Amino acid sequence: MPFSIDRYFDNAATTPVDPHVLEAMLPYFGTEFGNAHSVHSWGLAARKAVERAREQVAALIGAEDPLEVVFTSGATESNNWVLRAFEDAAVGPFEHSSVFELARRTGRTILQNSGLGVLAPERNHSLISQMRVNNEIGAVFEVSDLASSCDALHSDITQAMGKIPVHLEETPVDFASFSAHKFYGPKGVGGLFVKGGRFLVPLLEGGEQEDGRRSGTSNVPGIVGMGEAARIARDRLEQDLAHAANLRRAVVESIRDVPDLRVNGGEHISPFILSLSFRGLEGEALVLELDRAGFAISSGAACSSRTTEPSWVLTALGYEPEWLRGTIRISFGRFNTVASAQGLAKALRAGVGTLLGLQV
Ligand code: PMP
Repeated sequence: MPFSIDRYFDNAATTPVDPHVLEAMLPYFGTEFGNAHSVHSWGLAARKAVERAREQVAALIGAEDPLEVVFTSGATESNNWVLRAFEDAAVGPFEHSSVFELARRTGRTILQNSGLGVLAPERNHSLISQMRVNNEIGAVFEVSDLASSCDALHSDITQAMGKIPVHLEETPVDFASFSAHKFYGPKGVGGLFVKGGRFLVPLLEGGEQEDGRRSGTSNVPGIVGMGEAARIARDRLEQDLAHAANLRRAVVESIRDVPDLRVNGGEHISPFILSLSFRGLEGEALVLELDRAGFAISSGAACSSRTTEPSWVLTALGYEPEWLRGTIRISFGRFNTVASAQGLAKALRAGVGTLLGLQV
């Protein structure tokens, strides 16, 4: 069944492309097809568009200089780039798989924590990486507190950018990763903020694109789309934030009385994400029940929802299997309405009732 866009509640997995973003990108698939590194007029036009997008992205994240923004294929690449450049890196226990799995496989330190509070590294590290907003449960972390325990600080701001205020120039963050498709831009394009243009061993060697920092022909339409998405997000930040808070409240209030339910994520939370655990239920089954009702949600992070391993985030928070398995994630966006959020809550109650054989 094709979804009606207001019933799409999986905005942490990806957002729809904003129609203005699509419009801005289209010429760069057509007449403006030049390679941004060519010296002729076609190349110059593409180059100009890329530099305008760099300014728009820099403005959204509060970078002092647009040249602090390096375009990549997305947050996975940006995370890999930074983490691989620092052998003595340490990462938080609740990171996205592109940080956490890389750290696990390459012997980087995984910092331990008993809850969602500030991490306390036992020693200084050359790099510490902690995300600003967790993609599974929406917990917001005070990354800046870690600056005194490392020589360089990295933050994955993928679930924060364009959603909650991000002013990187006011923080001690040296590197920050992001992806356009989480804030109504296209997929396969993102970037890395590099404070002061600091040197970072390139991940990809080849041409001299991005001032020799990231080789590969620039994805001009994608970069233009991300720039436009950043411009819109900056204009609408407060409005989108208030809207997400309303949507989240509408769902939470409508299901609060459901028995054996936990709202995950602690006190400091992004309103764009609502993680719920229903004891004794299969999250995946509930996702399918809602799909039948025409609503899109997820049972965890999209990047790990096809694995059978339970969420390491909730495992690290000490969740027992009967709660872990019954976890779902609802994530809100610009195109949802309060009426559709109420409809979702109703469908959620019906789905839980069907699966438990109860009237909920
Ligand atoms: N970090 C976080 C916090 C994310 O939510 C995601 C996307 N799920 C990524 C990194 C990876 O983004 P991409 O797949 O666009 O590279």
